[in-house]
Amino acid sequence: MRIGVCGGPYGNPYALRAFVTDARARGCQRLYCLGDLGGFGAEVDALWPVLTGAGVECIAGNYDVALARADPDCGCGYRDPRDNEFAQLIYDYTLTHTSRAFAAWMGQLPTQRREHIGGCSVHLVHGSPLALNDFWWESLPEDEHRLRAAASGAGVICCTHSGLPWQRRIGHTLVVNVGVLGKPANDGRREVWYAVLDLDAGSARAELVPLAYDWAAQATSMRRAGLPGPFAETIETGWWTTCVEILPPAERAAGRFQLYRSALPEAFRPAGGGWGAGTASGTGSGTGANGGDEAGRPVIPLFGSAYFPPRLWVYTNFHCNLACDYCAVASSPKAAPRAIPAGQFQALVDEAAGEGFTELYVTGGEPFLHPDIIEILGYASQRLPTVLLTNAMLFRGRRLAGLAALAKQARPGTLIIQTSLDGARPQTHDAHRGHGSWVKTMDGIRQAASLGLPVRVGMTETPQNSAETGEAARMLACLGIEGEAFAVRPLLRRGVSAGGLDIEPGTTIPELTVSADGLHWHPAGADAVTSPDMLLAGPGTPLAAGKRLVTERFFAARLADGSLPRPYRCAV
Ligand code: SF4
Repeated sequence: MRIGVCGGPYGNPYALRAFVTDARARGCQRLYCLGDLGGFGAEVDALWPVLTGAGVECIAGNYDVALARADPDCGCGYRDPRDNEFAQLIYDYTLTHTSRAFAAWMGQLPTQRREHIGGCSVHLVHGSPLALNDFWWESLPEDEHRLRAAASGAGVICCTHSGLPWQRRIGHTLVVNVGVLGKPANDGRREVWYAVLDLDAGSARAELVPLAYDWAAQATSMRRAGLPGPFAETIETGWWTTCVEILPPAERAAGRFQLYRSALPEAFRPAGGGWGAGTASGTGSGTGANGGDEAGRPVIPLFGSAYFPPRLWVYTNFHCNLACDYCAVASSPKAAPRAIPAGQFQALVDEAAGEGFTELYVTGGEPFLHPDIIEILGYASQRLPTVLLTNAMLFRGRRLAGLAALAKQARPGTLIIQTSLDGARPQTHDAHRGHGSWVKTMDGIRQAASLGLPVRVGMTETPQNSAETGEAARMLACLGIEGEAFAVRPLLRRGVSAGGLDIEPGTTIPELTVSADGLHWHPAGADAVTSPDMLLAGPGTPLAAGKRLVTERFFAARLADGSLPRPYRCAV
């Protein structure tokens, strides 16, 4: 036998009618609805004749139970106050606008149903076999899946409450989250989802069906009813714009929006102690990396916010003319070059621009050891504002001529030189970077400035130079490097550095970084050998996948211990 199972019509009669038509056309002999008849759209009463007219066999969801009892809230099980604020708003509307006769009808529905169909034991639930409002997410740990399947004991379980469709076998049990009809699945599609199950001779097979329907009519109906604009926007775009805090990291990363804008000032304020805390990029408001007019939307993407700046780091190579004793990525003349070829780099720049990155930081090792560094910088700086991180010691010959040509061609501010100077005099700098390096770096700074290129300087604070920061700042100011162009940052315990500040992926704001070894959480952890904890994915992983991995890991870390990430910015 073939059956059609839907969930969560949420006051969307347009989608419910489409479900009946589509499921019948696919040969479904029985139709089921797993509850939550109200909760997002405006026309709850309009569902009743559709359900009864088509003989849809219903169980009650938590929403239906709440409406029937006229409870003060929907009992959806949200835990965040911002999620609850939106849930309460629509519940109050729905309670007021649902006839008591329909609510009473909801109240007499069973909250679960067991059937034998086609030789299969089928358990229809709203949340899960554990609870009416349990969120049965696909990303739950394996033992959580097994716990729910075992609590039922059926061969087939269908559920809906989490709102996102998936299916998988858990042991011998086929579990199908049929999704919801009331709103899209946070996947950028306007279609909603339901499931068709074939149950024959004791075997079960399910297909999740994307359902096209008159979404424009539903959005118009919601706007006419005065429901919040972001609700209608979800119908129109396929992206969830409310109730995002309930989503686990994997499901949250898959959507477009992850954070309530209102969460940024308090819950997402970076803790003190990180260098650059005062200069993290914007908060995702307005336009820019996130695109579009966002002022009226309560949520923003993590990417493009201060907690995931749209700044891409690229390691052109890992070998270096220096062998600093605190190099965070273990570079030296002996380090394996792991160079990214120019063609690959150029493709990466195009990909970065397409993915919404607004700045490019080109680093190493020493990028001026890359044979095609001038070509690389020329291509990059024509497409994205580009910062070159260099020890500034190799500006001579062919490279210097190339840099001079780039300086002439580059639009103002599109190519910036950033270097490191670890003291106001040679001894303190050379103590960690090698004899003679201070003098050469100072020469390089003057050369870059004389070409007309903006120069920024970062100073890594060490026991040797901590008394010199003021002196170094005054010295650099004489060269025109002052204000935000000069920053002091703490030493890190990474790479070959034996001491300094520990930064971890779970506690440090991500800055997506690409090297020949793959994608990394942060540029200070881009050496896969000494920082395997920062490696996100192998070579060739698309930046879109990298953004998603970062987002998922960010929220997983946040959920693990509730701590908030801190910035450690390598960028000046
Ligand atoms: S800290 Fe910079 S200059 Fe020193 S070895 Fe590492 S990459 Fe080279």
